Amino acid sequence: MKKRIALAGNPNVGKSTIFNALTGLHQHTGNWPGKTVAGATGEFKYKNQEYELIDLPGTYSLISHSEEETIARNFLCFEPYHAVIVVCDSLCLERNLNLVLQILEITPNVIVCVNLLDEARKKKVSINLSLLQKKLGVPVIGTEARKKRGMKELLEQLHKLESEKYTPTKVRYRKETEETIKLLENELKKIDLKNLSSRWLAIRFMEQDLILEQEILNYLKKPFPKNIKKIVIERKKENSNDDFVSEIMKKAEAISEDVVCYNNSCYDERSKKIDRILTSKKTGIPIMIIILMLIFWLTITGANYPSSWLFQLFSNLETNLIHVLSYMHAPSWMSSLLVGGIYRTLSWVISVMLPPMAIFFPLFTIFEDLGVLPRIAFNLDKGFQKCKACGKQALCMMMGFGCNAAGVIGTRIIDSKRERLIAILTNNFVPCNGRFPMIIVMISMFLVSASNQIASFTQVLLLTAVILLGIGMTFFISYLLSHTLLKGVPSSFVLELPPYRKPQILKVIVRSIFDKTLHVVGRAIIVTIPTGFMIWILANIHIENTSLLAYINHFFDPFGKMIGLDGIIITAFLLGFPANEIIIPIMIMSYLSLGTLTDYNSISELKNLLIDHGWTILTAINTILLSLMHFPCATTCLTIKKETGSLKWTLYAMIIPTVCGILLCFLTTLIFNLF
Ligand code: GDP
Repeated sequence: MKKRIALAGNPNVGKSTIFNALTGLHQHTGNWPGKTVAGATGEFKYKNQEYELIDLPGTYSLISHSEEETIARNFLCFEPYHAVIVVCDSLCLERNLNLVLQILEITPNVIVCVNLLDEARKKKVSINLSLLQKKLGVPVIGTEARKKRGMKELLEQLHKLESEKYTPTKVRYRKETEETIKLLENELKKIDLKNLSSRWLAIRFMEQDLILEQEILNYLKKPFPKNIKKIVIERKKENSNDDFVSEIMKKAEAISEDVVCYNNSCYDERSKKIDRILTSKKTGIPIMIIILMLIFWLTITGANYPSSWLFQLFSNLETNLIHVLSYMHAPSWMSSLLVGGIYRTLSWVISVMLPPMAIFFPLFTIFEDLGVLPRIAFNLDKGFQKCKACGKQALCMMMGFGCNAAGVIGTRIIDSKRERLIAILTNNFVPCNGRFPMIIVMISMFLVSASNQIASFTQVLLLTAVILLGIGMTFFISYLLSHTLLKGVPSSFVLELPPYRKPQILKVIVRSIFDKTLHVVGRAIIVTIPTGFMIWILANIHIENTSLLAYINHFFDPFGKMIGLDGIIITAFLLGFPANEIIIPIMIMSYLSLGTLTDYNSISELKNLLIDHGWTILTAINTILLSLMHFPCATTCLTIKKETGSLKWTLYAMIIPTVCGILLCFLTTLIFNLF
């Protein structure tokens, strides 16, 4: 029988790394708290035993109320499993032990995995693992998950866990509290508690967490003994809620003092110095902008060369494709569909999208791995607080740069429902990877087209300005929402700054190219082929000498013109709802179907195609604005619906950015017409 193992721990302690090392899967890892919000599942085999491993969301405690904590707690309480591996960061053992002690109250089948031992060694911090095992009463394994060290020992321990007898340590509370616990336990034992620990239940009753009580009721499917409520009320005076939390903290502190030895008192002095610069009021934000510009500069200048090679390659291949088709006597409509429609658009997608993504993703991931992202979130925290939103929103915003659907799921790290909704409704204001190439191409085609150093610097400046506009809009709309639809008091929270870690550059490059870049380009290709086919049909079915596509474009043209665009662009945005990556291909296909490209081997030819159809700088600017601000793609909308459980908020998430985009386009058109 397959054994189910849960992987629990604080955020950012290496759970996903251990998950990947054991299962061989590629769950996303990153150096910041809160990136694993939805649990992943994987499988592995050891000594003929099959295991299922569940990566739970990172949590600091099971007593608090954020969604991840509830997911982790409910899993540990109500789901069947054989054991829990609790991963700890050896450099913050005390804080991690809080969670270990709480889990020990739920289940005795625990293996504690003290990870990041290499970091501890570097900082001259040593941990007495055997003493820790004695103090906790459960097996303790030391690991360096990144180098896969300790994985064998972990597997071996898992293998022999059931055959060994352990007595997990229990936190003891004040005398009066213990008396109440005993009384409640005696009552609880009168009913079938399934696998729930009577002690754990007794403590939860004393905390009077009504939501949890309801969940326990649902799980047990029978009423609690009558005396429970009576005992809790009668003995309320003798017990205070804080008791449990503070006793666990005290115990964690005591154990940690005994087992951790700091051989260098100023072990994190260097990190603190860097933090003082990166998070200072004066230098924090400018450095953040410089980092952003650096990433963009490397992306834009680096992408130029492979882009032009790819264009050349595809143009050569096109000649061969035409030869093959004419050799096969393919009818002219088929050649037109395959070459003029699908092939050209596909090669465009690959030549233009692949290079910037292959550079942007690894760079972004390296900064993420290094620990820079939470510092950026820290710098933006004050701004979000001023908007009466949550500072953690900054982290979800960062995730939005990769994928807005991931950013929306990421908002689960925000505890307050109101602040989470604000973060969800505004996540689309940062462009995801599907929209980045469109913005970059518009800038380099229309705004700064020369290819020297000054031009690329100007391109970087413009791209940064677009992103800052998106961030600015995030603040502005968050402010508006928290003063209108989502009024409320902001919650206070402490954003944890993780330690700086050396990124695994090679792994980052390989993973971000395979997991993200190829995935995005693949998706674009998959959607482009049927869309190309559809557009070709629309362009080739004529009613009274006018194609269907022309009818649709004409229908949207007046509205498009009003906001400095045209019917084709509006149609492309609408048809691009399944995936933003296909907006530009649809546009090009539509223009191509109305005219032909004679020479197709560079971006400047495409520019000519667009100019032939009336494009100006204003069209490019407004296309950028609309791509920054319009309804999220279908995947993101579905995610929003799932996360909020409400059609109303999904509609708001679609309407808000679209209205902003249209208004801004209208404004720029007005300004252009005035001057
Ligand atoms: P999670 O949030 O708990 O799932 O943590 P991750 O698995 O994403 O790891 C957080 C960061 O710690 C990543 O940058 C990992 O590469 C890094 N990491 C994980 N384990 C180790 C380790 O044993 N040593 C070092 N130096 N880094 C590690």
